[in-house]
Amino acid sequence: MTEVDTMATRLARIRQRIAQACARAGRTPDSVTLLPVSKTFEVDAIREAMALGLNRFGENKTQELRQKAAALAGQGLQWVLIGHLQTNKAKDAARDATELQSLDRLDLAEALHRRLVNEGRTLDVLVQVKTSTEPSKYGMAPGDVAAFLRRIAADFPTLRVQGLMTMAVNSPDALAVRACFRALRELRDQLRQEGLPGVSLERLSMGMSGDFELAIEEGSTEVRIGTAIFGARSYPDPQ
Ligand SMILES: *Cc1c(COP(=O)(O)O)cnc(C)c1O
Repeated sequence: MTEVDTMATRLARIRQRIAQACARAGRTPDSVTLLPVSKTFEVDAIREAMALGLNRFGENKTQELRQKAAALAGQGLQWVLIGHLQTNKAKDAARDATELQSLDRLDLAEALHRRLVNEGRTLDVLVQVKTSTEPSKYGMAPGDVAAFLRRIAADFPTLRVQGLMTMAVNSPDALAVRACFRALRELRDQLRQEGLPGVSLERLSMGMSGDFELAIEEGSTEVRIGTAIFGARSYPDPQ
């Protein structure tokens, strides 16, 4: 008998695949967090996900995040920005996001810090690292991350670094995809040895609908899943 394709069954299937990938890697299933990525999906789809117990969602545009957060205000949701952020959107991010996973340059850190001071709050951030050579991917060059983290710890105390994030190369070659994830974990391990003060590197956000199992096998602590939970996107993602 074929299973009915609902958000509930898709979510259950993803959780099962996460658990299986963890088992293969000798990890416990609770060592991997699921971030549902609701970008481009309607508020009704988010309500459906909330009814399934989800309360933290990934978005990649500040304007879309703001509209959804307003529509679903007062329900204790957490909003995670995962997309490339223009510096002139730092104000919106500082006001509306619970967390930002795409911090990739100094001028953005400066702008966010300034706005966060105004808001009187801090923001959890992950530094996005470019682990592939694809020109379309954003992220900081791996060799620049150590100095960047030192600078954040010294000058931007509103930004609370929790770890690193990457997007793997978009390729059918599993070895190439895996190499991106491995590069992020190795960078994290290397940065840890430097003993950077005031910086946590616990979290590795890596893996999406098409590649999350490889990411888990390479040490991901958080997978960002959109289409495999919400269904196909009706308009293309510019990233
Ligand atoms: C859209 C997006 C995802 C989710 O992609 P899916 O393939 O729909 O799972 C994850 N991470 C980032 C940065 C994204 O922009």
